[in-house]
Amino acid sequence: MAELSRKDDCIFCKIIYNEEPSTKIYEDEYVICIKNIKPVSTHHYLILPKTHIRNAKDLTREHAEIFEKMISALDIVIQQQGLDRAATRTGFHWPPFNTVNHLHLHVISPVENINFLNKIIYLPGSFQFVSIEYVHSYIQRAS
Ligand SMILES: [Zn+2]
Ligand SMILES: [Zn+2]
Repeated sequence: MAELSRKDDCIFCKIIYNEEPSTKIYEDEYVICIKNIKPVSTHHYLILPKTHIRNAKDLTREHAEIFEKMISALDIVIQQQGLDRAATRTGFHWPPFNTVNHLHLHVISPVENINFLNKIIYLPGSFQFVSIEYVHSYIQRAS
């Protein structure tokens, strides 16, 4: 795994280094999982790599390992929080529709508690929000 990179004015990098407050529910060597400060359902978490990557579109094959670490963390968080996977929505913003420019995987559950507008904002397969499978195959195609 490459050395961790950090961007000084990035809010998520500051959270990773405990320079900004957050509620971390999971952390390992490669990723952290925090509670979203503006949850759109009962559970709303963000899984972020500890290294600064701007967004899913910037991922290349050299990020395959860190991407897998994010997906492993997702499995852990689902189990730890007792989430029903079938009722859990996951995905990534797709540029230019980023909120924070540090790659993060949204984990939102249950879907039925998400309001109409947020269901559209976080709609996997839309032009603004893409699924894990989409990003996985994007990485395979990237050079
Ligand atoms: Zn960052
Ligand atoms: Zn986001």
